[in-house]
Amino acid sequence: MSRNVVTFHYTLRDTAGQVLDASIGGEPISFLEGSGQIVEGLEEGMRGLAAGVKAKVGVPAAKAYGERDETQVQRVLKSLLPVEGEIKPGDQFRAGEDAFAPIVTVRGVEGDELLLDANHPLAGLDLEFEIEVLAVRAATNEECEHGHAHGGGGCGNHDCGCKS
Ligand code: ZN
Repeated sequence: MSRNVVTFHYTLRDTAGQVLDASIGGEPISFLEGSGQIVEGLEEGMRGLAAGVKAKVGVPAAKAYGERDETQVQRVLKSLLPVEGEIKPGDQFRAGEDAFAPIVTVRGVEGDELLLDANHPLAGLDLEFEIEVLAVRAATNEECEHGHAHGGGGCGNHDCGCKS
């Protein structure tokens, strides 16, 4: 079965219409179909769209970043964290050295303790994507092997850890 690489621009809003994120003004996003590079519901909503198409794709939380899990909110001693300087609610940092370590959000500061939330910042939110498809092309064998889309120069110009 052939897979496609789709390149698109998006504006992401919550259901109140507030812009949460956007690629407009920056580099468009490219993804390999079926690789999990973008959230499931967005990929479903974009399936079969041709280059040049603009669309609105609503994605419920369950098919975006999942529902919130309150057991992921924990009290941690500030001194146990590798963070220097003042910490305030809303601050975000990686929970470990690894580049893929989850992002945690500070929900509260109580004395020498922090309330840390390991839920994805967009967990629990129904999302509204406004997208414009810029290009659709067949994926290369290399992309299918790697499980992600490559830019113009192949794997060398993105940080996927599989440079060869
Ligand atoms: Zn690659």
